Amino acid sequence: MSKIVQLYKKKTQSVERRHPWIFSGAIDLASEELEDGDLVTVHDHQSCFLARGHFQNATIAVRVLTFEDIPIDAEFFREKIQNAVNVRRSLNVFREDNSIFRLIHGEGDGLPGLIVDYYNKVAVIQCHSIGMYRSIAFIAEGLKTVLKDELTAIYNKSSETLPDRVEVNDSYLFGSCEMPHVATENGVQFNIDWINGQKTGFFIDQRENRLLVGKYARGKKILNTFCYSGGFSLLALKNGAELVHSLDSSKKAIRLTDENVALNGFKNHASIVADAMEYMKELPEAYDIIILDPPAFAKHRDKRHKAVQGYKRLNAHAIRQIKPGGIIFTFSCSQVIDKLLFTNTVIAASIEAGRNVRILEQLHQPADHPIAAVHPEGEYLKGLVIYVD
Ligand code: SAH
Repeated sequence: MSKIVQLYKKKTQSVERRHPWIFSGAIDLASEELEDGDLVTVHDHQSCFLARGHFQNATIAVRVLTFEDIPIDAEFFREKIQNAVNVRRSLNVFREDNSIFRLIHGEGDGLPGLIVDYYNKVAVIQCHSIGMYRSIAFIAEGLKTVLKDELTAIYNKSSETLPDRVEVNDSYLFGSCEMPHVATENGVQFNIDWINGQKTGFFIDQRENRLLVGKYARGKKILNTFCYSGGFSLLALKNGAELVHSLDSSKKAIRLTDENVALNGFKNHASIVADAMEYMKELPEAYDIIILDPPAFAKHRDKRHKAVQGYKRLNAHAIRQIKPGGIIFTFSCSQVIDKLLFTNTVIAASIEAGRNVRILEQLHQPADHPIAAVHPEGEYLKGLVIYVD
């Protein structure tokens, strides 16, 4: 029997509309003392069933797993995982020349608090809620049952995504794998290192946008800023870029990029370790294409204004200095900066730079990072391809 939380009479609309988050302010009573990670059943003020989910002592108090009165057990997780895998198969991301994709994307796959990334037969799990972490054995079993021989190892990397009050040792839950592990994105090979790398080892969410850079790359001189392991650079080189410069402030990231360039036998590439904001003030060379993919400048609403100033400055530097007829791929992965605000920021940057800019394409996160229709907060990545006269 799970513990019961009862909501205030006037605080049920959002859960009735099937939004997966219940905020702490909506909770009136609990049947017994609640602990982080508890599975709770949510009732309205008349004790009618509304939902079931994971409780955590935080602003988002309950992350809903189901709006039906069903048990949250091994079968529940297996079904959700099967559904997520079916979606990826229909997206055609499981292919000979593509073995990197996001298998489970939190709310977008009906499993709030859970991320699972897939790298050529290895699943890397990041739990963002304590309840999900407590369910990790069910999740691992579900992955094994559904993926069968398409899975040789499962690694848990939740230490950096859970609150400090939970003790987590990152480790393999099934099988093991030598590092680095080679996986393929749209025909390009990457060394993936989830143990030492950022996030789960790779920024999967830029796959389709990298492919698009490839479309524009032939014969071009390209600067890829905030390159991490070089994803954009490699797709550009594969598609005939004349020269690519990759820039990151992290030496580790640049080492990953250089190794990935070597792994594919590409030439015409050089790396730069530098702070992108400083470097962009005065570029030593002129480029045909510049890629701007900074980390989230604002993780919270109260940092939004400062973040907008940061995006504006960065984009203005690129717009001012790109060759006439040049193209900029510019992104923001800050969830609190929506598409319109980002577009307006880039427009402001073009005015500041004093050049005529056209928006060629509007970009977003790929389909293996789905957005539940009831949870628009799931949209976080946006980008623009702009043409500078
Ligand atoms: N474009 C990458 C993902 C970018 S993640 C890809 O396709 O995989 C953001 C990157 O920005 C990280 O590698 C981080 O090391 C780097 N970074 C953060 N602050 C920076 C700064 N001020 N200057 C340059 N790089 C920075």
